[in-house]
Amino acid sequence: MQDRYGRKIDYLRISITDRCNLRCRYCMPDGIEKVPMSRILTYEQILLIAEACTRIGITKFKVTGGEPLVRKGCIGFVRRLRSLPGVQQVTMTTNGILLAENAAALREAGLDAVNVSLDTADPERFRQITGGGELEKVLAGIRAAQDSRIPVKLNTVLLSGGDSEEWRDVLSLARDLSVDVRFIELMPIGFGRTLPGFSGEALLSELEREFPGMEPDTRVHGNGPARYYRIPGFPVSVGFISAIHGKFCASCNRIRLTSQGLLKPCLCYGDTVDLRPLLNRAAEDCSAGSAAAGKPAAGADAAFAESAAASGDGAEDLLTRLSGEISRAVLEKPAQHCFGRDGGVTEERGMSQIGG
Ligand code: SAM
Ligand code: SF4
Repeated sequence: MQDRYGRKIDYLRISITDRCNLRCRYCMPDGIEKVPMSRILTYEQILLIAEACTRIGITKFKVTGGEPLVRKGCIGFVRRLRSLPGVQQVTMTTNGILLAENAAALREAGLDAVNVSLDTADPERFRQITGGGELEKVLAGIRAAQDSRIPVKLNTVLLSGGDSEEWRDVLSLARDLSVDVRFIELMPIGFGRTLPGFSGEALLSELEREFPGMEPDTRVHGNGPARYYRIPGFPVSVGFISAIHGKFCASCNRIRLTSQGLLKPCLCYGDTVDLRPLLNRAAEDCSAGSAAAGKPAAGADAAFAESAAASGDGAEDLLTRLSGEISRAVLEKPAQHCFGRDGGVTEERGMSQIGG
């Protein structure tokens, strides 16, 4: 559907967990408070939301987190999401630590592509940035995804300036692995507020100086806001997601679902549309229905499984109401973010809760 500014919104990022097996210092350093599992949406609830999304033209989904692969049942969830009528694409953003052991199953489940976050090609620096992560595991994950024929892209948050070798090493790694790489500006969300970032536009100028003949690559590379370039002699493209120095709000196509059931129209602001009242009411109705029918009390997910499977008016009514709330979130999308304005960012949640 279109929002108030004529933008086509067809993409939902779903954070399925706020937990993670890494502790990236700009995202989720030690000490961050974890949301209890009882407050995290069940897969059944997320699938209902996704189904409601398809009814208003949202057909592409990104599974993210926290780290999506640490949540039990993630692959089964991907399979069910991908097979919902109307779903055209399911992709994932992961830190890659658990990708090697899951790549083949993810492909079999129908995953269309994966973005692997990798901010450095140096093992020691990787350990520092991620709070102890092993770079070799991520590289094995990328190779396994490629072996399973899942298209891979690298996401690299720009933590260091132009005098650093970091981006050069990542670029060489991308070339060696034959994967596109996107350099992402650090956004003032969560712990990202406390660290200096580096401008994607400055890096682009530097690359243009270093690689004369570099030119824009206009082929479609994904759903996102990245601007891509081709470097002569490179088999891969280099993308820039410059939220701050290259604002792309005019072409924004997305909304976000937090792991707790809040729809976020824009990354920058704390405003949300809360889907939980609708979902909780449906679960209560379901449990009450089971009790009245003399069935044993079911857990939240089981109650929801029944509700999702039910073909009666209740399930249809819930989907209609959910679609209405999702449309409301789309219509509440602001024209643009205000990352550059002091005091303008009202989002208090961390990126691990939002999903990036
Ligand atoms: N754990 C997965 C991963 O790292 O890919 C998925 C979740 S993570 C929150 C999604 C993306 O957000 C990662 O690429 C991460 O680097 C990026 N990210 C986290 N905090 C950020 C910030 N403040 N600014 C820009 N990107 C950020
Ligand atoms: Fe975990 Fe991803 Fe955040 Fe790193 S960026 S702490 S891997 S959620």
